[in-house]
Amino acid sequence: MQAVILTGLPFLVINGQSALRFDIPTLKLHFFGSLIWMREFYLILAASLFLLLFIGFVTIIFGRVWCGWLCPQTVLLDLSENIAGGEKNRKPFQKLILIPLSALVAITMIWYFVPPAETFRTLFAEPTVTAFFIVLWLLVYLELAFLGRGFCTSICPYSMLQNVLFDKETLVIEYDATRDATCMKCDACVEVCPVGIDIKKGLSSACIACAECIDACRTMTKKKNIPPFPNYKGRIIRPKTFWLGGATTLAAIALIALLLSRPPVDFLLIRDNASLPPGLNRYSFTIHNNGGDKLTLELSSSDTGVTLIGEHSLTVEPFSALHGTILVKSTGKLEKLHLGISGNGIVIIREAGFL
Ligand code: SF4
Ligand code: SF4
Repeated sequence: MQAVILTGLPFLVINGQSALRFDIPTLKLHFFGSLIWMREFYLILAASLFLLLFIGFVTIIFGRVWCGWLCPQTVLLDLSENIAGGEKNRKPFQKLILIPLSALVAITMIWYFVPPAETFRTLFAEPTVTAFFIVLWLLVYLELAFLGRGFCTSICPYSMLQNVLFDKETLVIEYDATRDATCMKCDACVEVCPVGIDIKKGLSSACIACAECIDACRTMTKKKNIPPFPNYKGRIIRPKTFWLGGATTLAAIALIALLLSRPPVDFLLIRDNASLPPGLNRYSFTIHNNGGDKLTLELSSSDTGVTLIGEHSLTVEPFSALHGTILVKSTGKLEKLHLGISGNGIVIIREAGFL
């Protein structure tokens, strides 16, 4: 299911744009119908704060639940095991089966930066896209065919971080050593473990909490009507759950409030330091259209005796920015210029110095 969502998400179009895509040439993020510009750094900070708290909350309380159940890497490895058999006993020809899967993963990753239709058009026509695709394809293939779960235990930075965040009540999967005498030593738990752990030997930092060993053991122990030997251990409801969960919720609310309070259009104005005759000033402006509708706007000033010289009927395409300059002439004494944009129900007035 997760693989279908990750592959299908770039095809979901909201307000004429991909639901989730970072556009590298313009440095803007299309995020489920809204647009985030790189200059809106406060949103990136708020999102980073939320993510850090969320990761801390999930890891401290639920342990490696992300690794075992949600991580795209785990999903991909499970998928490759379904297609090409388990990592341990894979034959060379089975590794070849992973080549098309790796290509699909590589192209899906590109779709999060280049729209799918454009990717298909430019894949073998533009050297940059082609090079990215081939390098990604190769890396994904090497990872799926040769590194496998070794990535989780030796490279993944989140995996390293978990050892620091865990406390003695974090949810983990542990073998019940107090019942060791009744364990059948059938090693079904070891055979199914995707990272090759023998859980009977105690907790291991390589365990991804996938719970496969519990299910395998249960098939053996249910014949004797006893609970499986490996099982979840830890406490979910405790003071940390509330304060960490509360802080994460507050960060999420703050992020949503910031996103919702963003104006649909932004207008930036600065006076240029150009040597011009007295009474004449030049201004640079940028209009950011954060919405999915084309805007037709009029640039004007309410100041007396002011004339605008230059194009002041403006069209701003959806999800884009328009940069321009305008000359302003004043016949009277003017200290501050008030320049505004209006149209499509929008009125924004900015103030700038006038010399
Ligand atoms: S599967 Fe269960 S019974 Fe078999 S060795 Fe593992 S812990 Fe013991
Ligand atoms: S020890 Fe159990 S829970 Fe941990 S990775 Fe192996 S099978 Fe999954």
